[in-house]
Amino acid sequence: MFDAIVVGARCAGSATAMLLSRAGHRVLLLERSRLPSDVLSTHFLWPHGLSYLNRWGLLDEVSRTTPSHTAVHLVNEGIELTGEVPEKLLRTHFEELHGDGTGVVTAHASVRRRVLDKILLDAADEAGAEVREGCLVDELVFEDGRVTGVRGRTREGARFEERARIVVGADGRNSFVARALGLAKHDERARCTFAYWTYYSGFAPGGLHLHRRGRLAAAVVPTNFDQNMTLVWGPSEWGSAFRSDVAGNFQRALSLVSPELGETVRSEGRQEERFYGTLDQAAYLRPLYGPGWVLVGDAESFKDQCTATGMTHAFRDAELAAAAVGSWLRGDRPLDAALRTYQERRRSQNAAAYYDYVCTLAEMRPLRHDELQLMAALRGNQEETDRYIATHADIAPVSRFFEPSNLFLINDAARETSEQHAIFDGFAETSRGYLRNPFS
Ligand SMILES: Cc1cc2nc3c(=O)[nH]c(=O)nc-3n(C[C@H](O)[C@H](O)[C@H](O)COP(=O)(O)OP(=O)(O)OC[C@H]3O[C@@H](n4cnc5c(N)ncnc54)[C@H](O)[C@@H]3O)c2cc1C
Repeated sequence: MFDAIVVGARCAGSATAMLLSRAGHRVLLLERSRLPSDVLSTHFLWPHGLSYLNRWGLLDEVSRTTPSHTAVHLVNEGIELTGEVPEKLLRTHFEELHGDGTGVVTAHASVRRRVLDKILLDAADEAGAEVREGCLVDELVFEDGRVTGVRGRTREGARFEERARIVVGADGRNSFVARALGLAKHDERARCTFAYWTYYSGFAPGGLHLHRRGRLAAAVVPTNFDQNMTLVWGPSEWGSAFRSDVAGNFQRALSLVSPELGETVRSEGRQEERFYGTLDQAAYLRPLYGPGWVLVGDAESFKDQCTATGMTHAFRDAELAAAAVGSWLRGDRPLDAALRTYQERRRSQNAAAYYDYVCTLAEMRPLRHDELQLMAALRGNQEETDRYIATHADIAPVSRFFEPSNLFLINDAARETSEQHAIFDGFAETSRGYLRNPFS
C-alpha cells in the first residue's frame, strides 16, 4: 500500500512525486513511455519556472547544459520593448501563492523536454519514489465510491494492480485518470493557435525574442545543444492552409512577422531537426479533486502555448498539491480541507483572469489601436515594461497591470502620442489586410 500513486512522470507528475517522497511519503510513479524522450511541446521556462527548479535544488543541473538569459525582447507591430522580470515581483508572486518567497531567480531558459523531464524523473527516484517506466494505467480501482488504486499493463504485457491512499492524475491533456472518473471539461475555449517549430544552429540571439504582426507571431530562444528553438504561430483557422506547405509557410510566416528574423534564419541558420507542430490547443478546466484523487498539470487544465506557461503551471500545481496532500498524510488536516486549499489557490481571481488573458490572446486578433498605443507608451518606461513582461508571464497579476488607473499613468508618463509611430499611419487599412489568410 503506497501513500500516493502518481500517474504520468513529466513536469507535473515527477515534481509531485519528488516533493511527496522528500517529505517522507511512500510514492509510486507510473509512466507509460520511457525517458529521456520529448513530448509535443516547446519548452520555454519563464523565471518563475526556473525559480521552482531552484527551490527544488535542480537548477544547477539544468544550467549545466542549458543556456539562460534575463533579457526579453518584444516587438509588436515594429514597436520594440526590452526588459526583464524584477526579482521583487517574483518574490511577491511566490509569497502570495506558496507563502514562501525563497529561491527566486530572474533568468529564463528553454530546456528540451528530453533533458528536463529526465532530470525531474531522476530527482523523484533519488528522493525515494518507486519509479516504473513503460507502465500504462488503464483502470482505476474504486472501493465505496472512492479511488483506492490503479490497474495497468507493462510494455511487456504483464498486468499489475497497486493500492494507495490517494491517486494523483498527472497524465496530461488526454488524461486517462480524468476520463476514467468521467470528469467533464468546463470553461472550454475552442479558439486557439496553430504552432509549428524547429531547431536552428548557427546564430546567437541572446535571450527570448517575441515578435507579433497582425494575426501571426514568432519566437526564437536559445536552447540545449547550441540550437535555437524557432517557432511561428497564428490563428487555428489558418492552420490547415499553413500545413499544406509547412517548410515554405514557416519561412513565409517568419518573414511576414519579422523580415530581419526571417533573413537571419535563412542566411545564418542551419536547420537541425524536422518541424514539429499542432493545430489544436483548445483550453479547458477540469475539477481538481474528489474522493481519493487529485489532478495536477495539463490533466487539470490546459491553455494555449502563446504565453508559454504550461510547464511552469505544472510545477506550481506540483508544489501546491504536494503541500496539501502532504499535510493530510502527516495527519495535520482532513483530506477535504487540505485539497480545498489547493483548489482555492488554483481557482483564485488571479488564476481566472490569467486564463482569460491567454485564451483571448490565443484568438490572435490584430492588436487594436489602443493596445498599440499602450506598447508605444511603454517605451522608455522600464519599470512598467518589466511589469508588463511579468504580467504576460503570470508573475504579476493581470488585473493590476491592466486596471485603467495604471494604463492612464503609463500614458501620462509617456508624453508621446501614437502619431509618432509609423504603424499608426493607415491603421485601418493595415488592420483589414491582416484579416486575410496569407497561406491560402
Ligand atoms: C505546442 C505546444 C507548445 C508548448 N510550449 C510550452 C512552452 O514553451 N512552455 C511551457 O511552459 N509550456 C508549454 N506547453 C505546455 C506544456 O507542454 C504542458 O503544460 C506540460 O507538458 C504539462 O505537463 P504535464 O506533466 O501535466 O503533462 P505531460 O507533459 O503531457 O506529461 C504527461 C505524462 O503522462 C503520461 N501518461 C499519459 N497517460 C498515461 C497513462 N494512462 N499511464 C501512464 N502514463 C501516462 C504521458 O506519457 C506523459 O509522459 C506547450 C504545449 C504545446 C501543445
